Amino acid sequence: DNEIVLDYIQNIYKTVVERNPYETEFHQAVKLILQSLIPIYVKNPTYMENGILEQLLEPERVIIFRVPWVDDEGKVQVNRGFRVQFNNALGPFKGGLRFHPSVNLSIVKFLGLQQIFKNSLTGQPIGGAKGGADFDPKGKSDNEIMRFCQSFMTELAKHIGPDVDIPAGDIGVGAKEIGYMFGQYKKIRGSFEAGVLTGKGLGYGGSLARKEATGYGTVYFVQEMLKDHELSINESTVIVSGSGNVSIYAMEKAIKLGATVVACSDSNGYIYDESGINLDTVKQLKEVDNARICEYVNIHPTAEYVEECTGIWSVPCDIALPCATQNEIDVQAAEQLVANGVKAVAEGANMPSTTEAIEVFIQNNILFGPAKAVNAGGVAVSSLEMAQNSMRMSWSFEEVDAKLQEIMKTIYQNCVDAAEEFDKKGNLIVGANIAGFKRVADAMLAQGVV
Ligand code: GLU
Repeated sequence: DNEIVLDYIQNIYKTVVERNPYETEFHQAVKLILQSLIPIYVKNPTYMENGILEQLLEPERVIIFRVPWVDDEGKVQVNRGFRVQFNNALGPFKGGLRFHPSVNLSIVKFLGLQQIFKNSLTGQPIGGAKGGADFDPKGKSDNEIMRFCQSFMTELAKHIGPDVDIPAGDIGVGAKEIGYMFGQYKKIRGSFEAGVLTGKGLGYGGSLARKEATGYGTVYFVQEMLKDHELSINESTVIVSGSGNVSIYAMEKAIKLGATVVACSDSNGYIYDESGINLDTVKQLKEVDNARICEYVNIHPTAEYVEECTGIWSVPCDIALPCATQNEIDVQAAEQLVANGVKAVAEGANMPSTTEAIEVFIQNNILFGPAKAVNAGGVAVSSLEMAQNSMRMSWSFEEVDAKLQEIMKTIYQNCVDAAEEFDKKGNLIVGANIAGFKRVADAMLAQGVV
């Protein structure tokens, strides 16, 4: 049985690579998932007999479109827009939009595939999707950003809707961009459909605690993971890469729970302060001033700035939270973390560890929380935002936060249980992939070949 499954999985991977040449990030995400699913395929032949993986690994629909806009000099600019509607077995397509120059089909597909599993893990009724554009918001004026968002939505509006596909933010897309896109969607449709986008401003259908959800959820997950091993966040030393939405609120919750956050970063470099980073300053710089993290040392001269963002992994810590971007931890960074005595690593960003880096953490018995499970709090609260929009009501911060905590606890427990059931006790990567897969695969079986 084992041989047949291994052959089958290997063939699936080979086919994916052949059919999707050059999509290296997509291959990477597929490989990790396939490896994790071997135990469930051995125990449960139904999935193989019904071609579930064959269907699951091919997106339902990929939309690639031109996004023309006029910059402040009056010059025409053209970007490329994407939306990958990957799977809607559990609910309408759901997932963020990323605006970053690195965005291409491979990136959007790896994110979309992971989103299926992540959304499944939340227990919410949402399918998986992802989108974005190779637009660089850095250095653009507010008006340029608005015109870009409007042009992007002019095409995207044809493909989304509150029961069809519900985009949200990701790197480069926050409440401001969501606002501009919502305005354009409303204009085109001629109706106020609050549930078409999540991560909206609080004044027009946004949910309290959505902004905090990914970061807080990351730390709630870490709390569960540590508790299970008689460890605690309190009095631990934490490093958090990035200084965007995920990073800031992961730091906030970690500090609240008694940790000292000694380093954070942006794409230029990292700051380090042994006595703890001042989060109010980071928030002011990143959320208000649109500044670079290097400015931090002008305000706090005792802190150190190092102009090399991946250097952050050389900072000794108990807990490392990669919250910046994909493949930010390579094998050297992982070895450095291990050598410096890291106890736990949890992925706030999507696929921040390379395959080889994960191997290093597993080999050294480091507690490891995979992105699909760890950062699912963001999209979970997006789903709660949709629920509030449907009811035309809103919950208090405390209510949403309590639901988020409950969801993160359940995700952790489901990952632990799935790993144990399939003889991979303690391996949360296998646990997350199997638990996420099972719910989607069973829904697909029930709905037939469509
Ligand atoms: N971009 C986030 C993620 O990676 C959130 C998606 C959403 O809220 O739909 O899960």
